[in-house]
Amino acid sequence: MSNILIIIEHQNGILNPDSFGLLNAGIQLSRSIGADIHVSIIGQNLDTLSQEVSIKGVHTIHTTPANQPYNHDLYIPIITSLHAELNPIFTLSLHTSTGTDYAPAISSLLDIPLLPDITRFDYTEQIEAVCEMYSSKLCVKISSTSPAILTIRPGSWSNDHSPGDVIINPFVHVIDEKSFNFKVKKHEESPPGEIDISEADLLLSVGRGIGEESNLELIFSTAESIGATVSSSRPIVDRGWLPKDRQVGQSGKKVSPSIYLAVGISGAVQHLAGIKDSQVIISINKDPLAPIFDISHYGIVGDLFEILPALAKEFS
Ligand SMILES: Cc1cc2nc3c(=O)[nH]c(=O)nc-3n(C[C@H](O)[C@H](O)[C@H](O)COP(=O)(O)OP(=O)(O)OC[C@H]3O[C@@H](n4cnc5c(N)ncnc54)[C@H](O)[C@@H]3O)c2cc1C
Repeated sequence: MSNILIIIEHQNGILNPDSFGLLNAGIQLSRSIGADIHVSIIGQNLDTLSQEVSIKGVHTIHTTPANQPYNHDLYIPIITSLHAELNPIFTLSLHTSTGTDYAPAISSLLDIPLLPDITRFDYTEQIEAVCEMYSSKLCVKISSTSPAILTIRPGSWSNDHSPGDVIINPFVHVIDEKSFNFKVKKHEESPPGEIDISEADLLLSVGRGIGEESNLELIFSTAESIGATVSSSRPIVDRGWLPKDRQVGQSGKKVSPSIYLAVGISGAVQHLAGIKDSQVIISINKDPLAPIFDISHYGIVGDLFEILPALAKEFS
């Protein structure tokens, strides 16, 4: 029986819930190949994490204790030695800042192909995987020989799971901290902001289409007129125009308002991951082909600088 190795993601012992989607991607692959699913968990809180990911379809969980947060130099030797022991046909991790940190290094060290940011795949005689590029404007199909490493885009597989009967195997690895090139001292959570966008009933969300920071004035005045809370896409936060707690999406907050009004937002998959539970999505974008329109209930093709003042006037 061949093996599939899956690296579970957690932060200081708290499971990243997208790990279940990652496991389901591996389980789908194992059914096509007839492989056993082996899971690696490295770090702290291993008993709880093992219990959480003991789901149907998983064969063995390999636990390696380490009394410190994620570190590239910690993960690489553990994963490569587990890889040498299991000789997996495929190794899967999440396509997150952590997964994209260690997976390319493993691929390079073991000299096996890396298939990044995968959203779906088929397996017949070899794997045919799909990744999306340029804010999902382009789908690229990649076929690869095995063994290979896949990083799986969070949210691409369902997180549904049911409890299973799983073997727990302590995978002991002597950690030589002296060989580490750098140390992660601590992870700091952003301080909680005054606004909780996940509680808002009406969100006016602004994206890069706003052009300049000074144009936020129009956004806030329109939001006030219509009684909305202001949220944003990631580039607005990355530029420091709004605080992180206003960011919607995969690496921001998931929201579920009655109305989500997206203004100058293209609709990249990482943004859409945060707005799927909105009851009604209304979008304003000057590009009629913007992907945000594909999931909008109502769409206005036009210039936000003309439409927002007209909207505010209507409500004042
Ligand atoms: C690991 C990872 C995590 C990520 N997490 C997130 C996340 O949590 N949230 C998130 O949002 N993104 C996230 N991203 C980034 C994401 O891929 C996109 O780059 C981002 O969502 C694009 O933001 P945007 O739509 O504001 O900008 P753009 O894609 O640049 O779109 C701007 C839109 O504005 C429109 N526009 C321009 N001018 C006007 C005008 N005058 N009137 C009307 N429309 C106009 C344009 O037609 C365009 O569609 C993540 C990316 C990665 C790799």
